[in-house]
Amino acid sequence: MLYTSTRDNALSVESASAIEKGISVEGGLFVPTEIPAVDASFFADLVGKSYIERAEAVLSLYLTDFTPEELHACVAGAYTNSFSSPAVAPVVKLHDNVHILELWHGPTCAFKDMALQLLPYLLTTAAKKGGSDKESVILVATSGDTGKAALEGFKDVNGTRILVFFPNDGVSPMQKLQMTTQAGNNVGVSAIYGNFDDAQTGVKKIFTDPAIRETLAEKGFAFSSANSINWGRLAPQIVYYISAYCDLLKKGEIANGEAINIVVPTGNFGNILAAYYAKKMGLPVKKLICASNANNVLTDFLTTGCYDRNRPFHTTVSPSMDILISSNLERLLYDLCGKDDAQLRAWMTSLNENGKYTVTDEILQEIKALFAAGCCDDTQTKQTIGEVYDTYNYLCDTHTAVAVRVYEDYRKQTGDTAPAVIASTASPFKFSAAVLEAVNNGAELPADEFGMVDALQAKTGVAAPVQLTALKGATPRFTGICKKEDMREVVFNMLGI
Ligand SMILES: *Cc1c(COP(=O)(O)O)cnc(C)c1O
Repeated sequence: MLYTSTRDNALSVESASAIEKGISVEGGLFVPTEIPAVDASFFADLVGKSYIERAEAVLSLYLTDFTPEELHACVAGAYTNSFSSPAVAPVVKLHDNVHILELWHGPTCAFKDMALQLLPYLLTTAAKKGGSDKESVILVATSGDTGKAALEGFKDVNGTRILVFFPNDGVSPMQKLQMTTQAGNNVGVSAIYGNFDDAQTGVKKIFTDPAIRETLAEKGFAFSSANSINWGRLAPQIVYYISAYCDLLKKGEIANGEAINIVVPTGNFGNILAAYYAKKMGLPVKKLICASNANNVLTDFLTTGCYDRNRPFHTTVSPSMDILISSNLERLLYDLCGKDDAQLRAWMTSLNENGKYTVTDEILQEIKALFAAGCCDDTQTKQTIGEVYDTYNYLCDTHTAVAVRVYEDYRKQTGDTAPAVIASTASPFKFSAAVLEAVNNGAELPADEFGMVDALQAKTGVAAPVQLTALKGATPRFTGICKKEDMREVVFNMLGI
């Protein structure tokens, strides 16, 4: 299978090269030139298999230039002993035919682990295959979850260095502690004075500066990306939707061939796009339901065909979905417009220059056939956490609650009662303040983060993940804060240049 760019159809590379490069030179995203097709027997064969075996079966259809031995080593390395659930991504029944797909049993308690545990293996294997003798330097700007998941994935991986920048006042106390206490010999973490955009802009500048690139190359380093636009982060996400379907078959919850609805709390459109690829492959999916918080640019787009980021940015209790430019949407549009790279260039230029673009009515109709979309605000999110806990005795985080709420609205409005799988993207203990407030019936909240974790455990009887409780009293290892102008120096220092 070959990959091309959403903005240049003349490009053609194998998966290893797409993963190594991360993003195409002209700014487009790598996409498979065709989507592999599977039928009911594919799912039937996987029912009795482990998550690792399922991952190998699915990924071998996309990463065709990896040998079976290479792929096995990558997948087994990523998913053996690193997830607290033996199922890796277990499916839990909420009620009747509504199921929760728990994607947060990895080392950092957020769904980013599902891909970022595997990416370092894929990237180092790809680099070897490509004959690169350079050490990969992964630069990350993060608003919280990606940074920690990338650090855990790349720590002590031979041939790689990883450096994460986060906004000093822009992450939760738990997220900050997770990053500043990071272990590993090849890791670096720095706060910056500024917001997430400043961090992101600074990283992009360093990435694209030819002089810096040259200096690095002379010293034996090459930049690479762990951002969600990397195909190596998207492909691993297709696996768990197929795995969830197999689990439902195994439990007798559905019949093979029966269509399910998939609900995804969405930010950068990566997670739900993976579900779209699963559907295109042949997974029986009725609707892909896209759930947003108050930053509802996607709800509007999927219902009107006009993408317009010119609107206020809201800081919400589901911060990993606080985003107004959903990069991975570009891959969906490329597919829906008949792989018209000129059209994609035009839309993305318009987004860049005017902050908006509008798709044709024909594409909008296709979108409406595939997707449903909805949004809810913080009050509704917390209300949903409380209701889900009271009614089903299930504790969910703020992002998952957005998905549950949007699904309930969808079910009421449409009467569509097909079996549903709701993606759960983080442990509730990562966002203890909002979750505790939701289930605490107005009682006063403890002042500090671990006080809230303890109170939430005491109130619900649900145990907090040890990855988080182990951080109590931990001494930060990385205490540096830099100005955005000094990010280059921090990178050079870390690399010993
Ligand atoms: C990143 C993230 C999301 C959004 O996922 P996208 O792939 O960006 O749409 C949702 N929930 C949590 C907890 C996340 O960390």
